Amino acid sequence: MLLVSACLVGFRCRYNRSSKENRGVLDALDGKTWIAVCPEQRAGLPTPRDPIMFAGGTGQDVLKGRAKIVCKDGADVTAPLWKASLALCRQAKGLGIVRAVLKEKSPSCGVCRTYLGDRVVKGMGLFAALLAEEGIEVVGDETFVMIGHEKDDV
Ligand code: SF4
Repeated sequence: MLLVSACLVGFRCRYNRSSKENRGVLDALDGKTWIAVCPEQRAGLPTPRDPIMFAGGTGQDVLKGRAKIVCKDGADVTAPLWKASLALCRQAKGLGIVRAVLKEKSPSCGVCRTYLGDRVVKGMGLFAALLAEEGIEVVGDETFVMIGHEKDDV
């Protein structure tokens, strides 16, 4: 079974009430078993909502206490996002999930790139960083479309 960012499969859970439905991801998921999650919804952030971004570092830095996640108005949302992401992570482990397909650039789900302030930088979102720390393989949506048909479901 795979974990997948909910916005990639059509849920309108992004900050601006849109989805990022990705036909390539849906095609690559065809025939596989998956579960869709949105850590920001799980954290109780409303939709629509202010966009969030990192301050002081990215996901791995948050885990080391060196950075935080803030809204556009500066409000600190690190604690609820961390708690929700950890809960989802534990549920994924409990379900035996070993691989997650996540939306690039999100401060929660980004695998290779995310937002530090208003700049896209190399780094992981908080949810992706927690999953990786727990030993779950994280794959960005763009990479998954390239390899999704070739790699066995796990
Ligand atoms: S990228 Fe992740 S946190 Fe953002 S809307 Fe999609 S599922 Fe939710």
